[in-house]
Amino acid sequence: MSILENITSKDAIALEEKHGAHNYHPLPVVLSRGEGVHVWDVEGKKYYDFLSAYSAVNQGHCHPKIVNAMTEQAKTLTLTSRAFYNDMLGKYEKYATETFHFDKLLPMNTGAEAVETALKICRKWAYEEKGIAENNAEIIVCENNFHGRTTTIISFSNDPVARKNFGPYTDGFIKIEYDNLSALEEVLKSNSNVAGFLVEPIQGEAGVYVPSEGYLSGAKALCEKYNVLFIADEVQTGIARTGRLLATCGNCSCSDKHCSGIPEIKPDILILGKALSGGAYPVSAVLANDNIMGVIRPGNHGSTFGGNPIAAAVGMAALEVVKDEELADNAFELGELFRAELNKFIPTTDLVNSVRGKGLLNAILINDSEDSSTAWDICMALKENGLLAKPTHGNIIRFAPPLVMTKEQLLDCVSIIIKTLQEFKN
Ligand SMILES: *Cc1c(COP(=O)(O)O)cnc(C)c1O
Repeated sequence: MSILENITSKDAIALEEKHGAHNYHPLPVVLSRGEGVHVWDVEGKKYYDFLSAYSAVNQGHCHPKIVNAMTEQAKTLTLTSRAFYNDMLGKYEKYATETFHFDKLLPMNTGAEAVETALKICRKWAYEEKGIAENNAEIIVCENNFHGRTTTIISFSNDPVARKNFGPYTDGFIKIEYDNLSALEEVLKSNSNVAGFLVEPIQGEAGVYVPSEGYLSGAKALCEKYNVLFIADEVQTGIARTGRLLATCGNCSCSDKHCSGIPEIKPDILILGKALSGGAYPVSAVLANDNIMGVIRPGNHGSTFGGNPIAAAVGMAALEVVKDEELADNAFELGELFRAELNKFIPTTDLVNSVRGKGLLNAILINDSEDSSTAWDICMALKENGLLAKPTHGNIIRFAPPLVMTKEQLLDCVSIIIKTLQEFKN
């Protein structure tokens, strides 16, 4: 079979089943095209994408401006490695650091690599700037976190499926309850070896857990008090997803109407990935100011592909789209509408307990046990009705469409979701 030949869904799934490692459990739909908020399967059926590749495709599928930047750069220069300079990286770094208000950017490719990078920077800062004795630095993380899949990162996961039998694990992490400031202060008060606090502004993979109002600013204030770096993993929440450029947004001059403008939740280290490329290419980054990023010197860290010219061109275009199309404001407004519409429906059904989220990062909680297949079965029914979503953990379904959606499209999606839930029989 030639790879250029058309393939049926059934055959494509069978090929992956036979020749691919079984490290995912996909919904049985085989996509071959995407545009804006829509994707099409190989049989030509059209769907609303309500996952957006885990919020990588915030700018919509195949955004022409991003695709153009990528193809033009691909025709010109793709990779030099960082052994030499390239003419795109500096421009992108200037643009991104001005956008997010940091002195420096360190380019990587995937989210997990960027998290690893942030952890390394934090530890090095602890030894060289804070004065913690070598090998004693500890980093506080939260229960039910998701930060990626490397051995170090899964060392502090508490998801047994992600963790078991991958040991021995990396030391130096302290796990505390999410959304609990006294738990954070207790550790900070009693342990002078703490170097950083790594946190997701909203826990996406865990099921879109939105912390209490004031949690992030409170955590940031505690970190400042104890000279500990506040490290925000905005791989999923960043780039307009939650209705602002960043979920920790503040101290920036973005023009987002709904920007909090609270300067004290500016992270010491910001981790971005996913939508930093609009889903076109693996692009991730760590941002920090000179007093922190300065600990990284030639040879300390790197990546063959990190900061390549295509990534730089794509990253810049992807950020420009977010600004030009005011995607943060759109996500804010459509998110309010989405939750309001679902909140009108939820009292009329036994199937859904609640809806929660911020901007266009939302989830519904299915009224069934965590190990039931109800959420999966609902996603199968949604697929039949032309909308693709995926359960996160057990009985939670995440709804995260591309941010380029119109109000009419969103209301169309709301009616698909409500109709599916109304007709759903276990
Ligand atoms: C997806 C994600 C990551 C990991 O990104 P990869 O590109 O899959 O390595 C890290 N942190 C958060 C919060 C994520 O959602």
